[in-house]
Amino acid sequence: MKWYQLDVEKVEQKLHVSAAKGLTEKQVQERRKKFGWNILEAQKQTPRWLIFLKQFQDFMVIVLLAATLIAGLLGEYIDAIAIMIIVFVNGFIGYFQEQKAEKSLEKLKELSAPLATVLRDGKWEKISSREVVVGDVIRVKSGDRVPADMRIIQSNSLEMEESALTGESLPVMKQTRAITRDGVQAQDQVNMGFMGTLVTRGTGVGIAVGTGMNTVMGQIASLMTTTKKVTTPLERKLAELGKILIVVAVLLTALVVVLGVIQGNPLYDMFLAGVSLAVAAIPEGLPAIVTVALSLGVQRMIKKKAIVRKLSAVETLGTASVICSDKTGTMTENQMTVKQLYLNGQHLYVTGDGYQIHGDFFIDGKKTDRRFPNLESMLLYGMLCNNANLMIKKGKYVIDGDPTDGAILVAARKLGLKAIDREKFCIVKELPFDSGRKRMSVVVEDENRMRFVITKGAPDVLIPRCNYYVDAHGRKVLQDGKRKELEQAVLSMTKKALRTIAICMRPLKKDEPLENAFLEKDLTFIGLYGMIDPPRKEVRAAIEECRRAGIKTVMITGDHVHTARAIAKQLHLLPEDGLVLEGHQLDRMTKDELEKSIDDTFVFARVTPEHKLKIVQAFQSKGHIVAMTGDGVNDAPAIKASDIGIGMGINGTDVTKEASSLVLMDDNFATIKAAIQEGRNIYENIRKFIRYILASNVGEILVMLFAMILALPLPLVPVQILWVNLVTDGLPAMALGLEKPEGDVMNRPPRDPKEGVFARGLGSKIISRGILIGLVTLFAFLAAYQNNPENLVYAQTMAFSTLVMAQLIHVFDCRSEKGIFSRNPFENIYLVMAVIISILLLLIVIYWKPLQPIFHTISLPIWDWLFILAISAIPSVLFGFKK
Ligand code: ADP
Ligand code: MG
Repeated sequence: MKWYQLDVEKVEQKLHVSAAKGLTEKQVQERRKKFGWNILEAQKQTPRWLIFLKQFQDFMVIVLLAATLIAGLLGEYIDAIAIMIIVFVNGFIGYFQEQKAEKSLEKLKELSAPLATVLRDGKWEKISSREVVVGDVIRVKSGDRVPADMRIIQSNSLEMEESALTGESLPVMKQTRAITRDGVQAQDQVNMGFMGTLVTRGTGVGIAVGTGMNTVMGQIASLMTTTKKVTTPLERKLAELGKILIVVAVLLTALVVVLGVIQGNPLYDMFLAGVSLAVAAIPEGLPAIVTVALSLGVQRMIKKKAIVRKLSAVETLGTASVICSDKTGTMTENQMTVKQLYLNGQHLYVTGDGYQIHGDFFIDGKKTDRRFPNLESMLLYGMLCNNANLMIKKGKYVIDGDPTDGAILVAARKLGLKAIDREKFCIVKELPFDSGRKRMSVVVEDENRMRFVITKGAPDVLIPRCNYYVDAHGRKVLQDGKRKELEQAVLSMTKKALRTIAICMRPLKKDEPLENAFLEKDLTFIGLYGMIDPPRKEVRAAIEECRRAGIKTVMITGDHVHTARAIAKQLHLLPEDGLVLEGHQLDRMTKDELEKSIDDTFVFARVTPEHKLKIVQAFQSKGHIVAMTGDGVNDAPAIKASDIGIGMGINGTDVTKEASSLVLMDDNFATIKAAIQEGRNIYENIRKFIRYILASNVGEILVMLFAMILALPLPLVPVQILWVNLVTDGLPAMALGLEKPEGDVMNRPPRDPKEGVFARGLGSKIISRGILIGLVTLFAFLAAYQNNPENLVYAQTMAFSTLVMAQLIHVFDCRSEKGIFSRNPFENIYLVMAVIISILLLLIVIYWKPLQPIFHTISLPIWDWLFILAISAIPSVLFGFKK
């Protein structure tokens, strides 16, 4: 079907839809049944059995399995089977962990799926893009991803960037007229929008003509490269470290084996022990557990309304030293209310709160109404030059659309002006608002076919474009004196933290061409709106907390400098000697000048999105790690350049969300703080289990090494080593990943992004605890062995139990870098459970008769446990007393 050749009515007919009403729910259901969901077919997934098999691809595990096979052939059935089982259980655990990480990432994808605005049963609603069906009437605005292939039926300066399809990166102007030519290529079908391309400018409406695989994008989807799994910096560091640790572990193991053989142990025994030790000591699972910990952290962040789009962001969050945040909507409620008007040289005050439509107009303390000259026309203009809708939801008035526009509608409603009479006023053309232009305009045609332009926007942008003004007596030429007066009025409002909007108009001559370049000039100034947008309650405390955590908060806004300053003061964001910079100052500053003053600057006002990039780079050149928020399509470059790009879940555009690594579900600044706190905590937790696992491994290797040096028999048999690796190293380590933040995570400066895995004393802790664990285990073995040299199984059981207990006590030491006594041991219920389960499993393999021959154990008398507990506490408690 060549949709571009059809008139709009033809398209409506063919698809059985009216552009004014949209599809009915019934039609949607039928079409979904017929054509399916609007998705590009999922890429092939790795089959489950392959994920399971992958758990065994590790070299040492393969060696171990081979060794077990040999053991089996040599008649050591029990050992062989026990080892096999342990290896398989280990594989299963790895498999489940991977599945879990995968699932939570899946869920993330769902949460950050793009939305589409469609007209159904006469009502505009936001749905997930996958629910769009052929015939849906779709509304798009700048920053959106086009959800389906569509024939465009309305275009207000609509431009799309279609490089994903055509390779052409210049945006294409979209129009609605049918194209009569034949054989037109996608890039020249200017009345079509294509799935997956970007709206870079303007607004528009289209009718979906193709969805899912039946789109131009769908046809080339199979050609698209699959996305590779990206690893985080920490995962990479660990993978590298892992290689070194493997070499060290293998060398030490080899040493153990050689020494053991020299001391007269049988070669075969030593070989199997060596391989088991290597399997246990090589922390091959570390990167995987880190991934699991990161993805668990991601889930906790979701609960706090922060969606992580890139796993690496979890780590980077902990290093952030500057947050550059939008003011409007992020630090403030984004619930605007017009409180003041400036008209005919007088200030009017408006009562009423929020979007509720009751309120009155006062002048000099006296109520006034429609009889006040120009008031009605000013409010009417405000309604005409407007993109929002006032609706009732659950008995309350709410705004659909831009809150600034919404406030203006509510103000008009307070004077009794209801919906625009579309018979009387017809919008012929619209120049949409964007943060760069800071204004919006419409061309209106009234019932007498007279046309006029209405422009509203930032007063400092519009006043210079005015040559006339109106007062109670009519239109006059705007002289310099009066201009000053207007600017004074703006100042007096902005100083009260009011967001100001000027409204202007110009009558058009008959048949005057509607050239964009001329429409917004030679205007007549009508009046000013002053609206409040109260700061969010929780933001002040969040800024304070960030300050204590060594993180600087910077406000960035397109709003007037005085408004910005006033709000910054209310939030305690701007210190007495803090600087406020304006966009025009930024333009004039060189890079060096900006870098010099950036550390003292806390507010950037009247900036455009282009300035944001400059700000990010200036901070970065001073060594800062920058988090930057953004919502509009033009914010994407700055977001990409920042270390942590933050998109807005409610008011953000698809483009910025896609560019960002974190999305705030509630657009709230306080959520950024919560995410940083969580990010810091996750990193600390990862450090905790790295410390736990590596110290355990050091202990395991050392006890074997010491024994061989002292010409003793093997203190631990292979199954015991593997059991320790599986049970003790596995469960408690996972539980450490679930630790709640320690009280002081937000009371210290951000982590240095360049710091290594073993920084801040982690390395020395691993070595010292590891050595002690090895020593006490050896001591337990030695004590039992010397009293009773014939009973080797008894001595081995003592060593085994001591090693396990020493680790299970040490895990509590790992919870804090300040020692075992600094935290309540029962705080982390998962850890307590993991330890109890591990102890129960230990008691089972020691006391349950059928398992004793398999694990080479023997029942221990009760007083032995007192001894075991006493010495196994030493490695952890010893350092706890040191202060
Ligand atoms: P921010 O989001 O940081 O407050 P914006 O770029 O949205 O900054 O707004 C900048 C200025 O543009 C505002 O101070 C206001 O004067 C003007 N403005 C904002 N929204 C609108 C709108 N919908 N129509 C016309 N002008 C607007
Ligand atoms: Mg804005």
